[in-house]
Amino acid sequence: MKIIMLGAPGAGKGTQAKMIADKYGVPHISTGDIFRANIKNGTELGMEAKKYMDQGLLVPDELTVKILLDRVAKDDCEKGYVLDGFPRTIPQAEVLEEALANIGDKIDFAIDVDVPDENIVRRMSGRRACLSCGATYHIEHVPPKAEGICDRCGKELVLRDDDKAETVKNRLNVYHEQTQPLIDFYEKKGVLKSVDGTVDMQDVFVAIVSILGE
Ligand code: ADP
Ligand code: AMP
Repeated sequence: MKIIMLGAPGAGKGTQAKMIADKYGVPHISTGDIFRANIKNGTELGMEAKKYMDQGLLVPDELTVKILLDRVAKDDCEKGYVLDGFPRTIPQAEVLEEALANIGDKIDFAIDVDVPDENIVRRMSGRRACLSCGATYHIEHVPPKAEGICDRCGKELVLRDDDKAETVKNRLNVYHEQTQPLIDFYEKKGVLKSVDGTVDMQDVFVAIVSILGE
């Protein structure tokens, strides 16, 4: 089962992708997490990606496509995967489609988690992330047991630099210009499914399971 999560930054793609990965036993692949891990480890890729991420811009396709194709070629992806934050541009989607076509395969579902812009800034300013294990929280909706500490690994939680209000506005503009056209792209392929992302996260998941099947 090969799934793509679409939606604005902060729509809940990561939250839902983790639940899908747990239920269906496929890896959750987030290009944002891969970049953040590289930044934390001080790699050359991380340094380069950070320049764009800090401004709310997309990392260039040349860098992003390679890390994604390397990742999906790993053994744990044989049964499928759920992609979170990739593709974010039409060229990225085309490269993925071609790579899959070369092995006689295709994307099964592109799930658009629909949340209007008005809700996004509030969601993002409440998000707290663990840069160590990738867990995410929300100060109102999903608070950690102890304030500022990750339940899963005990490390410190942070407000991501790119979740600050000014950068979120840039990210939303970038989303509308470069990523939203993917909704049409996957609609034309006949694999697009939309869910209302404004409801409680468990209810969003129920809607997704009704699409993917039990
Ligand atoms: P994305 O991966 O699309 O950027 P996240 O899954 O990280 O978004 O969610 C953004 C923030 O909103 C997080 O703090 C998350 O806990 C919270 N969140 C996710 N889904 C919902 C929801 N349905 N209702 C309220 N808050 C949510
Ligand atoms: P995310 O964790 O998905 O919100 O991504 C955080 C940031 O990483 C984005 O704002 C981009 O700067 C960068 N990024 C993640 N995935 C991609 C992608 N597929 N293409 C370009 N940039 C990306």
